[in-house]
Amino acid sequence: MANQAQLASNQSRYLKAARGVPRKGQALPQGIALCGRCGAHMGLHYSGPAGDFPVYKCVSSQREEGAARCQEVRALGLDAEIELVVLKALEPDKIALAVAALEQLEQEDAAVRHQWQLRVERARYEAERAQRQFDAVEPENRLVARSLERHWGETLRQLEQLEQAAQAQLRQQPVALTAENRRAILDLGEDLPALWHAPSTTPADRKHLLRLIVNEVILDQTRARGKVWFQINWQTGAITQHWLVRHVRAYPEHAEIEMLQERVRILNAEQKLDAETAAALNEEGFQTARGYPFSGNIIWILRKR
Ligand SMILES: [Zn+2]
Repeated sequence: MANQAQLASNQSRYLKAARGVPRKGQALPQGIALCGRCGAHMGLHYSGPAGDFPVYKCVSSQREEGAARCQEVRALGLDAEIELVVLKALEPDKIALAVAALEQLEQEDAAVRHQWQLRVERARYEAERAQRQFDAVEPENRLVARSLERHWGETLRQLEQLEQAAQAQLRQQPVALTAENRRAILDLGEDLPALWHAPSTTPADRKHLLRLIVNEVILDQTRARGKVWFQINWQTGAITQHWLVRHVRAYPEHAEIEMLQERVRILNAEQKLDAETAAALNEEGFQTARGYPFSGNIIWILRKR
C-alpha cells in the first residue's frame, strides 16, 4: 500500500514535469510522430467501417490541396512495438545508464562552452594588448606604428570571428533533458515498468511517460515492402532504429512473400498436404499477411496464386 502511495505521488510529480499535454487516446507517439519521408508531422486519424482503427497520416498531404498522399501508417501494431522498445528502455539498469550517459553529455557540453569562453577571453586580451602597444608607440616612429596598427587590426578581426563562432556554439540547445525531468525519472527509478502497467495508469499517463524519455518518433513504411521502419530520438540524445513487420491485407505487400512462396513450393514438392504445410510454416514462425497462423485454405490460395 505504501508502495502504491509512493507510485501515485511519483506519478503526479512526473506528470507535472512532463512537457506538453498529449490528447486522449491509445496512440502513444501521437504529437511527436514525424514523417520519415518528408519530415512533416504525422497526425492521428481513425479509419475503418466503425471509425475505430487509428492511423498516423502525414499532414503534408492534407495541407496542400490535391497533393499526392505522402504516407500513412496503421497505429495498432506500431504502438505495440513502440511500447515494447520503451519498456525495454525503462528497465532500471537502462535508466541508470541513460541518466549517466546524459550527465556525461552535459559535462562535455559544459566543458565545450567553457573552452569557447576561454578562447574569446584570450583573444580579447590579445586585442587589448595590441591596442596598448599601438597607443604607446611614438607618433614619429611611423614604420613601427603602422606595423602595430596592422597587428591590432588582426587581433580585432580574430576576436570578432571567435565571438561569432562562440555565440553560434552557445546558441545551440544544450542537452535536451531538463534537470526537472531527470529528477523525475530518477525519483521514479525502478518503478517505471510497474507504473506503466499499473491499472490506474491511463493511456494519457503513458504518453506523458513516453515524452519524458522520447523526443521524437520518425515513421516510414515506404522503405521496404511489408515493413514499417521507425527511429526513436531519445531525450538523452541517443537514436535507435527499428523495423516492424506490419500486417497487410494482401500477399503482394507481405514482407516475406518470396521466402513464403519458396517454402510452400518446396513443401508441396515434398508431397505435403496443405494442412501439413500450414503447420510447418507456423512452426517456422511465418505469419499470414494479416498476422495470423496459417491454415490449409490459405496454403491452397498461395499455391494457386
Ligand atoms: Zn510525409
